[in-house]
Amino acid sequence: MIAKADAVVIGGGIMGASTAHFLTKLGVGEVALLEKRKICGGSTQYSAAHVRQHYSNEVGIRLAVRGASMFRNAEEELGGSAGFHQIGYMLFAPPEGEQGLRDIIPVQQGFGVETSLLTPDEVMHRWPQLQLDDVALACYEPTSGFADPVQTVESLVRSAQRDGLHVFESCEVLGISTASGRITGVVTGDGEISTGVVVNACGPWGDRIGRMVGVDYPITFSREHEAIFDAAALQGADAFHDYPVISDVPQCFYTRPYLGGRVLVGEGWPKKKEPVDPETYDDGTDEAHLLGMVPKLLNRIPSLAPTLTQPNYGGAFVTGYSGVYDITEDWYPIVGEEEIGGYYSCFGGSGHGFKIGPAIGESLAATIAGQEPLIDISSLSGARFSEGKTFGSVWGPGNRA
Ligand SMILES: Cc1cc2nc3c(=O)[nH]c(=O)nc-3n(C[C@H](O)[C@H](O)[C@H](O)COP(=O)(O)OP(=O)(O)OC[C@H]3O[C@@H](n4cnc5c(N)ncnc54)[C@H](O)[C@@H]3O)c2cc1C
Repeated sequence: MIAKADAVVIGGGIMGASTAHFLTKLGVGEVALLEKRKICGGSTQYSAAHVRQHYSNEVGIRLAVRGASMFRNAEEELGGSAGFHQIGYMLFAPPEGEQGLRDIIPVQQGFGVETSLLTPDEVMHRWPQLQLDDVALACYEPTSGFADPVQTVESLVRSAQRDGLHVFESCEVLGISTASGRITGVVTGDGEISTGVVVNACGPWGDRIGRMVGVDYPITFSREHEAIFDAAALQGADAFHDYPVISDVPQCFYTRPYLGGRVLVGEGWPKKKEPVDPETYDDGTDEAHLLGMVPKLLNRIPSLAPTLTQPNYGGAFVTGYSGVYDITEDWYPIVGEEEIGGYYSCFGGSGHGFKIGPAIGESLAATIAGQEPLIDISSLSGARFSEGKTFGSVWGPGNRA
């Protein structure tokens, strides 16, 4: 353990790894990253890691565009491979969402997103395994895809470590010291570090760190389920897993190909929250959630019915798991300095924080270093809740922010 640091980042998920990485790259002095488990041992490890650029607000779109570019050029931008697969991204809109989609696409294009509208017939012509009777309109981003969350975080951390970042795993922060309204140090199970800058990047544990300095966050938690099916085991499934990442708004569902000839499915919003304690919850999934997701996959890809309607899903079920969303009141993260000098929030990813994590870390690090950030992230400040400057989304409350 070091006795003194110029900045201490708490939490080794995508938010903390990115911020610590860019603080180190900017030469902010001695930077320490403290993680109570192992690097990427929190919610990021469960992420579907979809990297889309479809957002409803300027700051979200700008962060997503920058983020996607970082994933595409990970070796240079993130310090190593992010396991990124540029398979594209598609969103399906129901009739009541058609106009909203028509309105937001030109806005996204104006901020540099490569995206275009597709009719259901155009989609089915290109991906004939898909059935879109309940879809009014789609959009398609060829430069998006999905990444490997653990590899991304490892690359960010290990490359910065080579440049001098101090990394402490199995190191729990137990308290934060302040004097005269400013941060003075961090108390850990392994000793105390004197510092004037602390970044709270603790994801679903972020509210607990906040309580150490008297900051209350408008945040709730929900257990989120995903399942993986083996494409090879699915009869009638010729090339069915060759499709982009799909946000399926009519069905509140998402799916994408998974490595090794598999597919991933997950539940979208709006739906009922499943509040859990991130420390003690069961990270498996259960039959009730599978029974919710499989019919939606079958509705989109009817050729899978001969297998997936068999007992035990015809042997195609590989595994299921669940992570925890840390959800703010407006489904946007809380990023920036709080009233206590030197104390920065960087969490509340609300189920979509992975893709924008690197771009948030980059601009937050610049802000802490007193430099002009590449993207103005001041609108993500926690003050927006008391100032009535919260965000809305084309798709209503949910992680399709
Ligand atoms: C199932 C699921 C699917 C998702 N899919 C997507 C997606 O497709 N695309 C997308 O963009 N986003 C997605 N997300 C959201 C995204 O993954 C999260 O917003 C993001 O990973 C959160 O990262 P984080 O760094 O804030 O938190 P975490 O990864 O949870 O990191 C916080 C870390 O802080 C550590 N910590 C906590 N307390 C302490 C302490 N006292 N001392 C030291 N360390 C501490 C924890 O151990 C943890 O490692 C998904 C999330 C889930 C759960």
